Amino acid sequence: MYCKNCGELMNDNQAICLKCGVKAGEGNLFCANCGKNVAPNAEVCLNCGVAIKKAAVGYGNYDKITIALICFFLGGLGIHNFMLGETKKGIVRIVLSLCFGIGAIIALIDFVKILTDKYEINPDKAF
Ligand SMILES: [Zn+2]
Ligand SMILES: [Zn+2]
Repeated sequence: MYCKNCGELMNDNQAICLKCGVKAGEGNLFCANCGKNVAPNAEVCLNCGVAIKKAAVGYGNYDKITIALICFFLGGLGIHNFMLGETKKGIVRIVLSLCFGIGAIIALIDFVKILTDKYEINPDKAF
């Protein structure tokens, strides 16, 4: 795998490029497969033909599994919402859990969405 920001060759288990400091998979200037320069908006690398993937759904500083587990165990209290910067949602979850006891059900829905990459982070929404 090559750094998509500077084109430096990286180990597959390397999380951050040692040359430019950008996270693995971030950047749109180089092909991750062959390391050749690509146009910033190119869909496919013209050198090796590999599709240039858009950055995966991000969960802030956390990986998907961490957020999924926190959502599963603490989701009723909106902990994963707070971790993702969704303060409004988090507060609503706490209220729903304490007053109606249904926060855990909503958290379970979030949990499934996170696992299936359907979860949308939206700090402006309460639901
Ligand atoms: Zn780099
Ligand atoms: Zn390529």
